[in-house]
Amino acid sequence: MSESKSIAANLAKIRQSLPESVRLVAVTKTLPAEAIREAYAAGVRDFGESRIQEAIAKQEQLSDLDDITWHFIGGLQTNKTKQALDRMDWIHSVDRLKLVKEIDRLVRRGSPSPKLCLQVKLREDPNKAGWSVEELLEDLPKIEACDTLDVRGLMTIPPLGLDASETADVFNRLRQLRDRLNQRSQSSLHLDELSMGMSSDYPIAVECGATIVRLGRIIFGERRP
Ligand SMILES: *Cc1c(COP(=O)(O)O)cnc(C)c1O
Repeated sequence: MSESKSIAANLAKIRQSLPESVRLVAVTKTLPAEAIREAYAAGVRDFGESRIQEAIAKQEQLSDLDDITWHFIGGLQTNKTKQALDRMDWIHSVDRLKLVKEIDRLVRRGSPSPKLCLQVKLREDPNKAGWSVEELLEDLPKIEACDTLDVRGLMTIPPLGLDASETADVFNRLRQLRDRLNQRSQSSLHLDELSMGMSSDYPIAVECGATIVRLGRIIFGERRP
């Protein structure tokens, strides 16, 4: 089977198990622009990248495909924020107050204001970025004060090595946190989105209320290092 055929076949299979209301972001980090073309030909319009330089290079190669929605899902250095605002429609990985303030500052100076998700850690994980629940609650008033921001929801990545029930617990807690934040009386945030679920765990995430899943290997095969 040619690679493009298998990408289309993988997508068809995934779509069967995915409710229509769940947005599928095809994660193409480390893959060539050609892989994006193939998934595009199979109907995908949402693509996720985790390095800004790499994303820009692919956007330039794909400038003829003008209806792609670009999602940034990686760690964002503060000094790359402007490029990310200029180039990405979504940033799922807003993980610290300093970045929130930098986005606000740049938007006030005329940068585009992409849709944002706040990245939360529901379990201790030294390898992952993001707010703990306590930290997020503490920073929330300052985040809300940055009123140029278009915050749409929350994002999480469970630590490696959890079993299915522990993974479900992480995803359920993200949903409960979103609901709790929406219920706060003076909240100016209205969080609809839950960006959660990758190749290894997206069926669990969907069960737990994911609105966006971010899938790489299950569409494109294993990434080469
Ligand atoms: C790489 C990556 C994904 C996709 O992971 P797969 O296991 O290939 O599905 C999703 N989200 C983030 C933040 C990633 O870095």
